[in-house]
Amino acid sequence: MAVVRDALVDNRWWISSSRSRNPTICFLKNCLPDHREVISSEADDRYLWKVGDNAPVEGFSSSLMWNHLYGQETEVNWHKSIWFKGRIPKHAFISWLVALDRLSTRDRMRQWGVLVSPICPLCGTADESRQHIFFDCGYSKEVWSFFYSTLHLSPPTLIMELLRWIKSPTRHNNVNLILKLAFQASLAKANAEEAERRCENPMKRANENSTDEAERLFKRPALMTTGNSICTSEAERLFKKPMEAAKPNSTSEAKRLFGFSRSL
Ligand SMILES: [Zn+2]
Repeated sequence: MAVVRDALVDNRWWISSSRSRNPTICFLKNCLPDHREVISSEADDRYLWKVGDNAPVEGFSSSLMWNHLYGQETEVNWHKSIWFKGRIPKHAFISWLVALDRLSTRDRMRQWGVLVSPICPLCGTADESRQHIFFDCGYSKEVWSFFYSTLHLSPPTLIMELLRWIKSPTRHNNVNLILKLAFQASLAKANAEEAERRCENPMKRANENSTDEAERLFKRPALMTTGNSICTSEAERLFKKPMEAAKPNSTSEAKRLFGFSRSL
């Protein structure tokens, strides 16, 4: 591994003799400290990261570097609805794509010129769009309403309003976390189901009750399939083993939320 000393030739920075006008070389020449300080130094070499006008630090910050390179955007008001502590990465990513309307729903595919039927494969009764497939479709509505209905909550029906609402729908943090996880799991499930029916047999599971899907989501698979141990344990604590929850409220909240005492 090279050390700072290797950049010195005849007690001078070897790059200082370069006559190149390459902007990177010019930049490096301007950044280099006085070579005499380096020669006389007794300290060991160490890596420091200097981003913009910030003081050099030992730890690398990808967010700091990103903001330096691309500028800091204004935070959207639904940011914490998607990227919250305890999220399941796969579900959060799909939810993020939903929020940005970047999933290949049929209305978008047809705008791109793809010859595809506009009809939603989940219900077969309406054109597929982001609003329909995740919120208006009978299938998605049944899955999502399964989670909030027992709380007697009335979430908004428009996607962007719902994204703002889900950030803090109740006064209880545990319930809010459960609802956010359930909401994202519902989106992920609807997306996966739509993709499956699009690619395989559209009638494959046409008769399956979507409430069964909601129960399955709660009981475990979709909420547990993550390699992130922190999220897994969080999901287990809230969904699979609420009886072992660290916070006493979690058990009663989960039971009250889903009415699944038999599966706890
Ligand atoms: Zn539908």
